[in-house]
Amino acid sequence: MVLKNNILASMDVSPFDEMQKAVDIVDDSRHPTSKVAATIYGIDQQRPYSISKTNYWPTSIEDKIGTEVSIGNSSGTIHAETACIIKAPYTKDASLCITDPFCPNCAKNIAEAGIKTIYIDHKGFAKDFAERRGHQFKKMSMQICEKAGISVYELHRKEQKLIPILEVSEAYHPYDENPVEIEAVPEADENIFKDFIAIKSQENKGRKLAVAFARDKNRRAFGITAISHPAMGYSSDKDIEEIEHPESKYSFMMEPVNRLLMAAPRNGLHIVNGLVFCSQIPTAREQVNIVGADLSSITIRNMTKARDDWAFKAMDALGKAEILSFYEL
Ligand SMILES: [Zn+2]
Repeated sequence: MVLKNNILASMDVSPFDEMQKAVDIVDDSRHPTSKVAATIYGIDQQRPYSISKTNYWPTSIEDKIGTEVSIGNSSGTIHAETACIIKAPYTKDASLCITDPFCPNCAKNIAEAGIKTIYIDHKGFAKDFAERRGHQFKKMSMQICEKAGISVYELHRKEQKLIPILEVSEAYHPYDENPVEIEAVPEADENIFKDFIAIKSQENKGRKLAVAFARDKNRRAFGITAISHPAMGYSSDKDIEEIEHPESKYSFMMEPVNRLLMAAPRNGLHIVNGLVFCSQIPTAREQVNIVGADLSSITIRNMTKARDDWAFKAMDALGKAEILSFYEL
């Protein structure tokens, strides 16, 4: 088996070792039934990095709301795969080792973050919750990976063996119909941010839009702009049938705040707390992910608009507990 990423291979980084790091921490997960861990690894500024995370409740949610309560229609947890992406310095072309088959929401995040290879521990396919999610994994997570050009392998640690589940040609480049926009801005301050929002709102009238300011490792400031769009590689016209009729409770749509949160590490950027905007109330899952990304406030244009009632319920819960502040523009 030739490893695709030659730099990592030459640096002696092996998916078997990286998977072991995830396996070593999986029992630390506070989740009573679904204990999952993941390791993301790749190259940032010519140096290899590796980060391992379990699924977890952000401390503020665990302390102020608790682990038994849903936030709108979302759980309060951050899945291990998404946790790894949010904390990673640079996710483009990175690899991810996961103890279990991943859900469609994480598949969309992984695709948007530009990850190219996923390894799943073979033992993850034997657990009962993997069986319960098996259909969603096969029907949706794998479809999303195929479109995004992500190769997926079943990893056997003991035998040091990789069994391909999905192998994508290196020549394949996913169709990026509506990429998240990244552009340099003079400074990451509130006044420039407000002007930037006004311009982007004008350009994207009537669409659900999210904007953030972020910094790179040299503290240069950038604006990130995203609208809702189907998962990476999908076309809103050509794949309309599939997008509108998913064979599970999950959606192929990627909400704009989630796109922002994934586009930041994809581009080696760190979102500035306080400089995050959404044209309407983000979904419950987006709100929990904002908290997972260590952000504590969001500016909203239309406080009466949301995809569903769950978003308002989540806003109420996170707002009252003083976990996330919502400011009207
Ligand atoms: Zn997930």
